[in-house]
Amino acid sequence: MMRFSQAILILLTVCCFSVQANDAQDNAKAIHTRVLTLDSHVDIAREYMLKPEFDPGLTTSMKVDLDKMEQGGLDTVFLIVYVAQGPRTEEGYAAAKAAADKKIRAIHKMAEVHSDRIALAYRPADVTRIAAEGKKVAVIGIENGFVIGHDAESLERLDDYFQWGARYLGLTHSGHNDICDSSSASSKLGDKPSEHGGVSPFGREVIARMNQLGMMVDVSHSSKDCMLQAIKLSKAPVIASHSGVRAMADSSRNLTDAQMTALAESGGVLQLVAYTGFIKPDPARDAAFTALEEKVRLEFGADEFSYKLHEHTPSYQSGVAHINLDYPLASVSDFIDQVEYAIKLMGINHVGISSDFDGGGELRDWSDASESLNITRELLSRGYDEDQIEKIWGGNLLRVWAEIEQTAAYMDKVQLAR
Ligand SMILES: [Zn+2]
Repeated sequence: MMRFSQAILILLTVCCFSVQANDAQDNAKAIHTRVLTLDSHVDIAREYMLKPEFDPGLTTSMKVDLDKMEQGGLDTVFLIVYVAQGPRTEEGYAAAKAAADKKIRAIHKMAEVHSDRIALAYRPADVTRIAAEGKKVAVIGIENGFVIGHDAESLERLDDYFQWGARYLGLTHSGHNDICDSSSASSKLGDKPSEHGGVSPFGREVIARMNQLGMMVDVSHSSKDCMLQAIKLSKAPVIASHSGVRAMADSSRNLTDAQMTALAESGGVLQLVAYTGFIKPDPARDAAFTALEEKVRLEFGADEFSYKLHEHTPSYQSGVAHINLDYPLASVSDFIDQVEYAIKLMGINHVGISSDFDGGGELRDWSDASESLNITRELLSRGYDEDQIEKIWGGNLLRVWAEIEQTAAYMDKVQLAR
């Protein structure tokens, strides 16, 4: 039988643990509120702002909307103008540009309609200023250099996108383009394993122009050769806006140790991505997704199908829920394992966070923006202090962006002096 004193001791221990647990919770919340949190890759639905269900000012099925950002204390998002690689024909280029323009217009409309809650940032200093005003911050990133086409006006189009607020450009997506080789050659588009052996002569012009403008060069989705050459060609550090660690998860989208080291040595930043396929790759899970997309495609008819639109339909979402039961999602802990690996290899100043929400990114316990506190909790539980957490949660990316901007200002002056 338990003695009275033993019972008291157990009670005190339990109370003590729960007080400690509550303290840890409060501490995580306080730190999460104080640090500026930035997610460098959030996709937007194709019908963003055009239909009420894709208006981020309302309650939506999207993983990122203003309510979820407010609930989760997520301050800043890079909203992505994603355009799939298509045929490099006159029609293909025109369609890509039209798709990009539509998405940029939608992001601007969102910032105008909800100007009391969110504002667009054009410079790193804007991010801190807007957040200090108590608003959420949006920055525009473009995913796929395909959108600028390949003709005499391509660089002017790049200038236009910069004027319009685009602050990073992913050189490629899935499938090679005119700028460089992709990490995922597209058999559908008839790609060879490599087309340019890295960056093309046109790609060199694009990178040089991006440096002059102060636009971040994003090497996520680029082939290894393209990525390493881009680092050398760029006069400013480059970023990987959403990539994983190859040594821990063997996907061609992830970066090898040599790539990560080269990125850190050049002063750039790797934004680890919360995409289960790049954390715990599983061909059976990928196959289940392909089958689901095919099923939904048949349901809507091939012409009507768009992954970005139909991922919000009930039949697609219930299919995803089933897949997640059969092949469980990675957890925040699995994700932070990659963050820690990157920190050990690259140093604390070169690592950040991205979700790829609404583009396939999802973790068991970071399933949308409202659960962003779980990232801070995990970092804190692993012994990172507030300064380190601030760097990981966006401080590093903002520093690199500021360096890129300074290099551009310097290059501008050099040009003026000539
Ligand atoms: Zn992507």
